[in-house]
Amino acid sequence: MGKLDGRVVLITGAARGQGEQEARLFASEGAKVVLADVLDDQGEALAKEIGGLYVHLDVSQEEGWTAAVAAAKEAHGRIDGLVNNAGILRFNELVSTPLEEFQQIVQVNQVGVFLGIKTVAPEIESAGGGTIVNTASYTGLTGMSFVGAYAATKHAIVGLTRVAALELAGKKIRVNAVCPGAVDTPMSNPGGADPEALDELYQKLVPLGRVGQPVEVARLALFLSCEDSSYITGQPFVIDGGWLAGVSVL
Ligand code: NAD
Repeated sequence: MGKLDGRVVLITGAARGQGEQEARLFASEGAKVVLADVLDDQGEALAKEIGGLYVHLDVSQEEGWTAAVAAAKEAHGRIDGLVNNAGILRFNELVSTPLEEFQQIVQVNQVGVFLGIKTVAPEIESAGGGTIVNTASYTGLTGMSFVGAYAATKHAIVGLTRVAALELAGKKIRVNAVCPGAVDTPMSNPGGADPEALDELYQKLVPLGRVGQPVEVARLALFLSCEDSSYITGQPFVIDGGWLAGVSVL
């Protein structure tokens, strides 16, 4: 028996990285997965491989959400799970960040999660209840230089998660957030830095001495999407190899 047997789960940003691993793991646990992304070729190919449904969805656009939900319902009759995973990262000092760049990050990361909750929660309620997992970041709980706009949106996602959990608990919808540290995806190494140099860096920075793997975040998203977490809602879950535990002096 799978942990998600009979469930219909929409995952945004599912074409690669953490979303890809979530799609693979959720499908292997019995879910009917709706993979949403703007990378159509990769998303289509993955959906075909794992027996899911691919929908083109730019999470920052409200009409896109309406169409994606309609496609999912046409295929499966309902939706009872959502993983808001899509996100973008830009590096810039705050005082050098163009307003347009700041707004673009807000539109995708923060408005995207808001629209996901707004559009999909009523569907989950109609299905009799379910789960929402939002992807924040450890920069949703602490600061990090040169990612000011990104960190602002991730703090906002933690806030949205808490409010949504309060408002949706009575509708049998649990809402939690994952807060990953450094995870080995195209986002964390956009410049294609030398893996050995990165390994050396993470050995120093992260108590567990390594970068996280996207499947490890997928396992946390699975826990928060299935009955194993039945009494948990409104919480941010840090998954960072101990990075946020405190300051290491040695
Ligand atoms: P990634 O860049 O590999 O994947 C992100 C996916 O989101 C891509 O498939 C991309 O096409 C999609 N996407 C981007 N903009 C979109 C939009 N407007 N509409 C729909 N899809 C869109 O990155 P990842 O590391 O897998 O990131 C997944 C999530 O995890 C993001 O929210 C990210 O902020 C968060 N996160 C990542 C790390 C990390 O170290 N990798 C750390 C903390 C949080």
